[in-house]
Amino acid sequence: MQVSVLDGPGKLRVEERPVPTPGPGEVLVRISSVGVCGSDTHYYREGRIGPYVVEEPLVLGHEPSGEIVELGPGVSSRLVGQRVSLEPGIPDPLSAESLAGHYNLDPAVRFFATPPVDGVFAEYVVHPAAFCHPVPDHVSDDAAALLEPLSVALAARSAGDVGLGSKVLVAGAGPIGLLISQVCRLAGAAVTLTDVREERLELGPRYGAAQTFTAAEMPASGDAYPGGGYDVFIDATGAEPAILSGPQRLAPRGRCVLVGMGADSIALPVPLVQGRELTITGTFRYANTWPTAVELAAQGLVDLDGLVTSHHTLKDVEGALTAGAKPGALKAVVRP
Ligand code: ZN
Repeated sequence: MQVSVLDGPGKLRVEERPVPTPGPGEVLVRISSVGVCGSDTHYYREGRIGPYVVEEPLVLGHEPSGEIVELGPGVSSRLVGQRVSLEPGIPDPLSAESLAGHYNLDPAVRFFATPPVDGVFAEYVVHPAAFCHPVPDHVSDDAAALLEPLSVALAARSAGDVGLGSKVLVAGAGPIGLLISQVCRLAGAAVTLTDVREERLELGPRYGAAQTFTAAEMPASGDAYPGGGYDVFIDATGAEPAILSGPQRLAPRGRCVLVGMGADSIALPVPLVQGRELTITGTFRYANTWPTAVELAAQGLVDLDGLVTSHHTLKDVEGALTAGAKPGALKAVVRP
């Protein structure tokens, strides 16, 4: 099979490798679509994200969909030919975190395209059957792949406890911010979406935002709603100015959820956090989100295909990883 391998910053090549054999509880999946994520781009450009450094050749890509073509021992034969969305992080099922239900926080989790674990810019991959989630036929290959970023959005909604009537401010109108906006709207929230770039806000209304502002146009603290600020602020930028502006706009007892990666340590406004009894939390990927993600996609309640702005082959993973620089680009998809 063909596999796209990253040899170091900016260095990609296609390599022939043997098709892997599924072990007990595993299946062989022929990959259909793989969404390209900001983290793939970071590894490609800089060869690292924070503590994770590419030291050996690495296969990128962690947002896959595909079809089960072969079964390992102990897997139900009904699964052959099943179209699936692959959940990329495999925890140790007996870790304290897994047993407590937040398996994403297991320190031993093996996650696609996080050194030294290879990702899925490949024709085939072997994966535990339990982490291959069946999708109905009317959900496209691309949409099935994008259940991964949808899961990020579901985890953010859950961390913010966003529900009926919540007033939510979302910073960042890229794929993650748009999906957070859509999921919060579905949960019954009134969503305000901001981004530094005006053109990125164009899709806001289609993705559930009741109002959009560029960061510069954003009304002063608390003005957006009479009688108080937002119940929840969700950052999907990882940019310091956006993160710092959030807590100021929260109502008393408001919740701040940090999703976007990239910011280093920043100053905490202690009097504000105390005076309004704010809660500040973050999310690390997701746990237990796929059943909901599959259901939302199956019911047509989320627009995943609308995020895809380009398709690429395995030979053009470089094009996929650099597509984000083009105006209007949201999500590139590799189709091995
Ligand atoms: Zn991702």
